[in-house]
Amino acid sequence: MRIAVAGFMHESNTFAPLPTDLQRFRDGSLTYGDAVVPIWQDAHHEVGGFIAGAAKFGYELVPVAMAWATPAGPVTDEFFDHFTDALATGVKLARADGVLLALHGAMVTPQHPDADAETLRRVRAALGPNVPLAVSLDFHGNVSPQMAATANVLVGYQTYPHIDQRARGLLAAELLARAVRGEIKPVCHVAKPPMLLNLLGQDTAREPMAGLMRKCRETEKRPGILSVSLMAGFPYADVPDMGASVIVVADGDRNLAKAAADDIGSAMWDVREQLNVVSPEAEEAVRAALACPKLPALLIDLGDNIGGGSAGDGTVLLAELLKQKATGFVVPMFAPAAVEQAKAAGIGNTVEVTVGASTGPLHGPAIKVRGVVRSLHDGKWVEGEARHGGRRQNDQGHTAVLDLGSGNLVVLNTLRTPPFSLGQLTSLGIDPKAARAVVVKAAVAYKAAYAPVGGTIIEVDTPGLTAINAARFEYKRITRPMYPLG
Ligand SMILES: [Zn+2]
Repeated sequence: MRIAVAGFMHESNTFAPLPTDLQRFRDGSLTYGDAVVPIWQDAHHEVGGFIAGAAKFGYELVPVAMAWATPAGPVTDEFFDHFTDALATGVKLARADGVLLALHGAMVTPQHPDADAETLRRVRAALGPNVPLAVSLDFHGNVSPQMAATANVLVGYQTYPHIDQRARGLLAAELLARAVRGEIKPVCHVAKPPMLLNLLGQDTAREPMAGLMRKCRETEKRPGILSVSLMAGFPYADVPDMGASVIVVADGDRNLAKAAADDIGSAMWDVREQLNVVSPEAEEAVRAALACPKLPALLIDLGDNIGGGSAGDGTVLLAELLKQKATGFVVPMFAPAAVEQAKAAGIGNTVEVTVGASTGPLHGPAIKVRGVVRSLHDGKWVEGEARHGGRRQNDQGHTAVLDLGSGNLVVLNTLRTPPFSLGQLTSLGIDPKAARAVVVKAAVAYKAAYAPVGGTIIEVDTPGLTAINAARFEYKRITRPMYPLG
């Protein structure tokens, strides 16, 4: 049994101004053929699961291509056409008995608001109708009925933070291998309750989402059901299929798949108000951080959630910490020009740099900070634990740590880096446990790495591309009505 393995993953924030092009995928990870295997085989990632599945489920692996980039603005049509050509040609040349494809589920290009469905359409056209195609998806995929109609199996992660990626990849691999052997005939159905879930409510450890996930796992055990994936959706994409969904894969029985998906969809709808979590703005949040007894306080910068496609240089919390004369804070900031200034000044010297507003004032105005260059780094580290995103090799680009006095540190980096690994700070000689407050530019995904060292977690409704309050955005293309927007 020959199984082709490929991936094309991007979470596209349609409110973000920076397009995601070839260079952004090179900055992330872009590999072809056998080069895919060493990059991904040990990763806590679905492609690692696909690779491990070869030994476990008895197939020969044919690696085709894998592209991954940090969430940002839509993927360019140029790169999309280039890479889907590579996928279509690759799966055809592989002469495979089945295909495992890792997609995110929330990719958008200017031409294709449902770029994942278009990717599937092109891969399916190359394969013909009879070769089984199993697809893994991120929990944040905005799943469309077209995707379910094109793939034989759709399996999403069921944890947020995403720590089950490898396991879900293995499940997709297992279902594909069984389908190729003719043991099962998987069919998919997608239910779409008309709901926008904000990222706080999506946390799978928090009720009522935790209870919904338990219901999914119970349903998954029922006879004839092969897998159940509750998909939270990605709210920062103004596209017709934006929103939550439930995917059920059943063995040959479409009605069973539909009934199970609809049942979970209506359970989600019933708890929509509890899922709509609200949080304080910066002034109140910083005051709470300075008063809280359990340290460090993690100030979660929800509007500047880098993993969701924001700028990574939001200044609202830094400005508020300075205004309230906080001591012992650590604030990371994407600031390439400031890093150059710090490098030019050298360790031990004082610089004044401007940070923020690289993509406009959406994440707060640019502000000036003055400090001593404490250290300079190449920005690379290796993460050994299972973390959201599943990456081992990490790179925040050339990095400078600026000491502002009073124990306040600003980490200036040159690649937008979501806080999925504490190595982002510890590799710079910073102990987050020793701080009073650490700004974390994320929504939920940071938790696998940061929650164990956080004394108090304070989620902050900051402005930005990933603001938690959906009413801050002007949607034009989503399907209406859509709770809680109307
Ligand atoms: Zn995700």
